[in-house]
Amino acid sequence: MAHATNRTGVEEKGQRNARSLDAYLPKRGLPEGATCRGCGIVYHNKRWQTESTAAESNCQVLCPACQRMQDHNPAGVVTLSGPYLAAHKDEILNAIKQQETKSREKNPIGRIMEIKEEGERITVTTTEDKLAQKLGREVFRSQKGVLHYQWSHDQRMVRVEWMR
Ligand SMILES: [Zn+2]
Repeated sequence: MAHATNRTGVEEKGQRNARSLDAYLPKRGLPEGATCRGCGIVYHNKRWQTESTAAESNCQVLCPACQRMQDHNPAGVVTLSGPYLAAHKDEILNAIKQQETKSREKNPIGRIMEIKEEGERITVTTTEDKLAQKLGREVFRSQKGVLHYQWSHDQRMVRVEWMR
């Protein structure tokens, strides 16, 4: 059994035409062991994982996070603003980055795409709506202020606004 599996793996390595796979392949259609050619995470037990014991597959795709980065198409937008923010910018940005790092250990497809500073506003875009909410909640929890979520169901995107 193990031998047969191995042999298949070697044979298939020669044909890397999997590269032409549609970038928007539905999650359900991914085979066990599919690997993201952008960041190297592996699809295992129906989840994307940073470290995985799955047998390597020759299926190379882009994970949802890399797809969104490539398309500049965020699933979440967090906007921070207000005079308090201006005075505590570094502290708040550090908290946001730490929260992302922590979250990525469990869920590698939730990532910060970009942090933009425009005047007294900071905009953080994310590859996952849940991460955007998490970041907003974290700032709200540690810094108080006002927090709003706004869903756009058709676009499956969340806007999180924090002010203080
Ligand atoms: Zn990726």
